[in-house]
Amino acid sequence: MIDPKIQSALNDHLQAELSSAYLYLAMAAHFEAANLQGSAQWMRRQAREELGHAMKVFDYLADRNGRVELKALPQPQGQFGSTLEVWKAALANEEKVSKLIGDLSARARDAGDHATHAMLQWFVTEQVEEEKTVQTILEQVKQIGESSTAMFFLDRHLGKEAAESE
Ligand code: FE
Repeated sequence: MIDPKIQSALNDHLQAELSSAYLYLAMAAHFEAANLQGSAQWMRRQAREELGHAMKVFDYLADRNGRVELKALPQPQGQFGSTLEVWKAALANEEKVSKLIGDLSARARDAGDHATHAMLQWFVTEQVEEEKTVQTILEQVKQIGESSTAMFFLDRHLGKEAAESE
């Protein structure tokens, strides 16, 4: 039987992953409205990936005979001043999730819950990739500055990347 405190922390994390999906969906909607379809595709794919992360936690709780508790999701930021602002917010979100996973992993270890600790190491590795990916795009957006031609090509590239990883 899973420790009730670890179960509760995993349910909090399930909510955090679903909130990430919700945030990326809001960003997809922003890019759709801004006529940046490639960036919107990228965000849609990211939202689906976050839903996949949430399901990993969901499935793990089920495997451990734990109780899944679905909490209300906070309303994500809906308005963004610029493309740069969106990618900054995306990176801030990934950094926040990395911190949550680190704290959760430490808690599982301290509680002697080796199964949860082992399961979480997949997320630890995944976050390195997530942060790197978003950081790279953010740097590109910064370099682009006000150039709409360069943004056109980055947007096309992001759309292609999202399509290839489907
Ligand atoms: Fe995630």
